[in-house]
Amino acid sequence: NMSGRKFCVGGNWKMNGDQKSIADICKTLSSAPLDPNTEVVIGCPAIYLMYARNLLPCEVGLAGQNAYKVEKGAFTGEISPAMLKDIGADWVILGHSERRAIFKESDELIAEKAQHALDQGLKVIACIGETLEEREAGKTNEVVARQMCAYAQKIKDWQNVVVAYEPVWAIGTGKTATPDQAQEVHAFLRQWLSDNISKDVSASLRIQYGGSVTAANAKELAKKPDIDGFLVGGASLKPEFVEIINARQ
Ligand code: PGA
Repeated sequence: NMSGRKFCVGGNWKMNGDQKSIADICKTLSSAPLDPNTEVVIGCPAIYLMYARNLLPCEVGLAGQNAYKVEKGAFTGEISPAMLKDIGADWVILGHSERRAIFKESDELIAEKAQHALDQGLKVIACIGETLEEREAGKTNEVVARQMCAYAQKIKDWQNVVVAYEPVWAIGTGKTATPDQAQEVHAFLRQWLSDNISKDVSASLRIQYGGSVTAANAKELAKKPDIDGFLVGGASLKPEFVEIINARQ
């Protein structure tokens, strides 16, 4: 791959796992040969972050799956980017479609969280993606542009950001976007970045694809010029995650 962008694969465990199963996954990741040209990040439930940190190889990054937009205070139930940093997580996943749909997080709140996390020195996986209804109405580009616009109003430095394009209709459904469908949106996003941020950011920002990525479809998706990695839900809980990490080999 000639882009110069390091392939980046995130595992999003969502609200899954217990001490036993997490130890098993961490053992698999510790014993497998992981492509050194792939950056790997594990999005772990907050309550198991320290536990997973101690069991994962040190070259594997660790992400919270959410964090609030301020450092500390009276926000019962929330965790802050400062806390994530304190326990050895270096990333946070923000704006996942489940946060948007189930927990009613707005574009603006998500962007504020992203900016605060970056200010606190975390790296951010910033998620976007259209619903089936929006795709069928021909609004995919409009929706992802709106979500990117909201991020861009708050994010000043994109160096520590990875964008995850995850069409909602592909998440957890077994209905992966075809490599061409994914590439089309990734290319649109690349152009959007060039037009609205800068040519440098457009050339260097990594854009992951997410939505029913498996060992069986990762290799073809990974060949597309604007797909710089994956955000993987279900398959990241299984040994096949190793094959997804190594998809470019
Ligand atoms: P999935 O989830 O791989 O299970 O479709 C992807 C995600 O939600 O990040």
